[in-house]
Amino acid sequence: MRHRNIVLTLKQVAVHVLTTAMRGSTAIGLKGTRMSRILQTFKETIRNPYSFPGGYTIALYFLDGERVCTKCARDEWKLICDDTINGWGQWQAGYAGVYWEGPPQDCVHCYDPQDSEYGDPDEVSDAQV
Ligand SMILES: [Zn+2]
Repeated sequence: MRHRNIVLTLKQVAVHVLTTAMRGSTAIGLKGTRMSRILQTFKETIRNPYSFPGGYTIALYFLDGERVCTKCARDEWKLICDDTINGWGQWQAGYAGVYWEGPPQDCVHCYDPQDSEYGDPDEVSDAQV
């Protein structure tokens, strides 16, 4: 009798796992492929924030254009996943890319500045004055 209860429990667990997986894939739907690609890019950038070839620093941006540093993205990974999958919130993953040129950009969360790879073309140096 006790053995039978265990078997039923395992069966219930299997059904729960299957329905949860199906519900998740249905909820994400067609957007799932693009979304998972964006999250995969974010995850890869968190693990290795430098481009190959070149070794340039890769910046992470949310959909609203704000930059987040890799440390904050790593610390808030669950929040980024939740907002991106739900499609709302300020932590929706947008894109990742090298920040080539311009003034330093602050991380939207910790305000840590990231310099561009080629500097700010509008910056006036001492040699030009
Ligand atoms: Zn940060």
